[in-house]
Amino acid sequence: MSTGKLTIDLAAIADNWRALAKIAGVETGATVKADAYGCDIGRVGAHLAEAGVRQFFVAMAEEGLALRKAIGTGPVISVFSGHMAGDAEVIAGAELTPMVNSLDQMLRHVEALPGHPFGLQLDTGMNRLGMEPSEWTALREIALSQNPVLVMSHLACADEPAHQMNEQQRKQFDDMTQGLSIPRSLAATGGTLLGPDYHYDLVRPGIGLYGGMPFADAKPVVTLDIPIIQTREVAAGETVGYGNTWTAQTPARIATIAAGYADGLIRAMGAGATLQAGSATVPVVGRVSMDSITVDISALPNAPESLQLIGPHQGVDAVADYAGTIGYEILTSLGHRYARTWTT
Ligand SMILES: *Cc1c(COP(=O)(O)O)cnc(C)c1O
Repeated sequence: MSTGKLTIDLAAIADNWRALAKIAGVETGATVKADAYGCDIGRVGAHLAEAGVRQFFVAMAEEGLALRKAIGTGPVISVFSGHMAGDAEVIAGAELTPMVNSLDQMLRHVEALPGHPFGLQLDTGMNRLGMEPSEWTALREIALSQNPVLVMSHLACADEPAHQMNEQQRKQFDDMTQGLSIPRSLAATGGTLLGPDYHYDLVRPGIGLYGGMPFADAKPVVTLDIPIIQTREVAAGETVGYGNTWTAQTPARIATIAAGYADGLIRAMGAGATLQAGSATVPVVGRVSMDSITVDISALPNAPESLQLIGPHQGVDAVADYAGTIGYEILTSLGHRYARTWTT
């Protein structure tokens, strides 16, 4: 088999959820948007529901439908994009709870689905989603008369604990929600780690469940082993790959492995990235191609069957660093050609 082998540890995801729930000490949901950060919304959702998750968060109604099919009735599924035009049937059918962002969305919701649960999203400074303070002031009484089930906002800088934006947004959230008797939620993974002031009634971590930063104590979740297709000896002075960007300084042994940028291993990852063969570390040389990557395995006594890019020794954030991006992007870009296995 020539495709990379991607293993997703569902037990580790559940352990990470329990660890975050322990830190939070309040109801802890799970954010499973973008196919559970590339890990499969159906399998992850079902496993987390079994572990005790009662509040799930997705970005879009269609994701909520897929999740509902996997977990059945019971747990709440909230939708960050709120109630978009054309969503009413899916929201009703899959029993989704839209987190409405604006007056328009709220009117659309109460007109199409009177009495159907919804939540409110407030903008406390990120300027991405939710009602701004002035809009909220004008709308507050009408909105509350419709019995929203949750009021939430989102932090822009929670992965930087010392950033003054965190406290600024928390104070804004306090101001905007003062006196409400509705459950409140402000924290994703980063906010959960900022401490009790940020927890309110419900936290909704995503990336930490999947082993990514800023949850430094997370258990690793994803392992990616990429088979070697071919090896060759190159002489000093020979070049490897597109654009001749790497030249052998000494005779070297080059392995070509079966994954490339079409599998989410973006070209920016090239220079400086390494893979693992057992306990040995071997460097990527030359440019990442669409379906293959070249690796200098001169340090290995024998060519192994595969090399490991993501695993316990090197997590998604280390791989993200090679490409100048974040673990979130590496996870959600993992391609569909890999042979996937889910372990429990
Ligand atoms: C993505 C997202 C989350 C989860 O964020 P993580 O940083 O992955 O924990 C929570 N809330 C909202 C509104 C989001 O968009």
